[in-house]
Amino acid sequence: MTDAAAINSPTSPSVMLTFSDDRKVATITLGSPDERAITLTPSRLSSFKRALQEVKAAGVKGLVIRAPSIDSFCVGADISLIQSVTEAGEGAALAAEGQEAYDMLEDLPCVTVAAIGGPCVGGGCEMVLACRYRIISDAPSSSIGLPETKLGILPGFGGTYRMPRVVGLPKALDIILAGKTLKAQQAYKASLVDELVSSENLFARAEEIARGTKRPKRKKVPLVDRVLSSNPLGRSIVKNQAKKALLKQTKGFYPAPVSALEVTVAGLGRGRKSGLAVEAEELGKLIITPESKSLVHLFFLTEAAKGLGKGARKEVADLHALVIGAGTMGAGIAGSLAKSNHQVIVKDTSDAGLQRGKDHFTKELGKLRYLSSFERAAISNRIDWLQFASPTMGRTGVVIEAVFEDMNLKKKIFADIAGRVRPDSILATNTSSLSVTEMATAVSNPERFIGMHFFNPVEKMPLVEIIRGEKTSEATIAKVAALTTEIGKFPIVVRDVPGFLINRILIPYLNEAVYLLMEGHSIEEIDRAALAFGMPMGPIRLLDEVGLDVAAHVSKIMVDGYGDRMAVPDFAHKLVALDRKGRKNNAGFYTYQGKESVPWNGLAEALGLPQKPAKRLSQGEIADRLVLHLVNEAMKCLNDGVAGDDRELAKKQIDLGTVMGIGFPPFRGGVIYHAEKEGLDSIRERLIRLEAEYGVRYRPF
Ligand code: NAD
Repeated sequence: MTDAAAINSPTSPSVMLTFSDDRKVATITLGSPDERAITLTPSRLSSFKRALQEVKAAGVKGLVIRAPSIDSFCVGADISLIQSVTEAGEGAALAAEGQEAYDMLEDLPCVTVAAIGGPCVGGGCEMVLACRYRIISDAPSSSIGLPETKLGILPGFGGTYRMPRVVGLPKALDIILAGKTLKAQQAYKASLVDELVSSENLFARAEEIARGTKRPKRKKVPLVDRVLSSNPLGRSIVKNQAKKALLKQTKGFYPAPVSALEVTVAGLGRGRKSGLAVEAEELGKLIITPESKSLVHLFFLTEAAKGLGKGARKEVADLHALVIGAGTMGAGIAGSLAKSNHQVIVKDTSDAGLQRGKDHFTKELGKLRYLSSFERAAISNRIDWLQFASPTMGRTGVVIEAVFEDMNLKKKIFADIAGRVRPDSILATNTSSLSVTEMATAVSNPERFIGMHFFNPVEKMPLVEIIRGEKTSEATIAKVAALTTEIGKFPIVVRDVPGFLINRILIPYLNEAVYLLMEGHSIEEIDRAALAFGMPMGPIRLLDEVGLDVAAHVSKIMVDGYGDRMAVPDFAHKLVALDRKGRKNNAGFYTYQGKESVPWNGLAEALGLPQKPAKRLSQGEIADRLVLHLVNEAMKCLNDGVAGDDRELAKKQIDLGTVMGIGFPPFRGGVIYHAEKEGLDSIRERLIRLEAEYGVRYRPF
């Protein structure tokens, strides 16, 4: 290669243009080798355009587009840019800039090849869609897709226009509406890329194609998909089906996928100019919606959480783990660790307990269709299921205890195990309600003792609440945060208070659902109000999921910790005495049969409920009664420093925790974000009114 020309701009690193010695092949290299993630800033896009002009003028046979390294192609537009746009016209103009660049790329008279290694998403993916050929390295880090709808926008650099032309309409909608990113193999299967190549061969093969020496054999889009894409009737069938599924999934809370559906289908029936114009206009409208702003806010929270404990990543990379208790939680935790390459011992006291854990693990592993049988076997082989202590435990670098919720039992276990594992081993408890500080008194070096509160089901719930005991060291916190991100979950670090952060915020909300029942509101009314606010499930149903026996136990801890404001009418003991424990025995507030459930018709009599409420409340008023508890308790936690003393950081942790641990609607951006949007003064006023009517449980923050 000769003639390296850095197409520099003052604000962004270069786009590098080089030519082969015979000047037949040009290469545009995006970004510089020291960039961790290559983003598309406006200035980089202008550099890119200038490079394309030079390529055109040079009259080359082919152009290769690549990144400096084989594992970092391009992550798309800079997300802070999305956050900063406040006017639709500004958003549309941004989209038009990108579209113009990719039109130039598409219109080049030479062969264009994208050599993709690492992530190629958003604007990066839209760039390669404008190339004639796309080849991808088969490395695990390679991925390609359009995640824009996850940020409340649509692909605005031509993605909605070009994707269906490359993979057919059904597959394009599958990717765009769900904001999917595909692994290399999946992308090849979907005809999104033309060839899978080894990492070492990626750039050489791209140049070969650009030279026209050996073109890839294009994978064809299946005939049915081609037919469905090519005529208006087919498109309308696909659109109607997609719309139905979409509304069921999003319940109308998310405008972006709905708009993306309209634009993608319409674009397929239009020419490039008008198709792209509609796309840019819609992007402009979406980018300023509150939903998009909330989702972008959440994106930054997840990025910040991933950075926690960064410095300790190396230390935890190959820790051997010991999980004590093979129950629902223990088996799930062991599976997460094994999937991330950790050697794990699971210890339980009974054969039956171990068998139950193994069955749970095997069932969950079976659900991961993307794993090959070889990978599945490797994960299984990483776990040893033991009934008795073994010398191999001496290698343990992290203990995670998940036995019954009993302080004495847990203390006994830690006192015994602390001397059998590495002296620097982390000692973590998965307790959901007991004091971590008190539990730590069972060991001689409590600085390595910590709470690592996973949520149920472990396989699905992305949050881990890390509980800092009074003596837990910063090094232990960093290691546990690093371990949490390493197994693909998001950590928040909180203080050791009753209920920790998440249950402390959740319990008053659940209690209020019971108060509403006691006033004579129906189960359906209460659950429906929460769903209408955007919660994934109503509070009464959630109580059934948690289990009424567990709820009774936690409720006592909360009243002991916070007094009357956490008190709730005693529904739980009454229902448990009638053998109605919730989902676990198919009988709680609801009666369950398989996937079906109906509100239990004996409830009014069992709890002595009135026929109807003395005062009827609208759906909005019921939702307010419930949600204001989430807000109030979250604000109290913020003021008490439960999520740390740095107020801004604490707000972020609470927002992330409430979305990922409680299911607070992502389109509302987290409890504190939502409250600040509504205005804290107006919320306080509403709480004061409610306190006057219902008592101390509404006392404002
Ligand atoms: P579980 O009843 O399903 O499992 C507990 C397991 O511990 C059983 O298999 C039992 O045989 C085993 N065990 C008991 N004594 C033992 C001992 N001395 N040594 C080894 N194993 C022993 O319980 P779970 O739901 O998995 O909960 C475990 C812990 O996780 C509890 O502290 C609970 O509060 C907490 N937790 C539970 C949930 C949840 O929703 N289930 C959520 C978060 C945290």
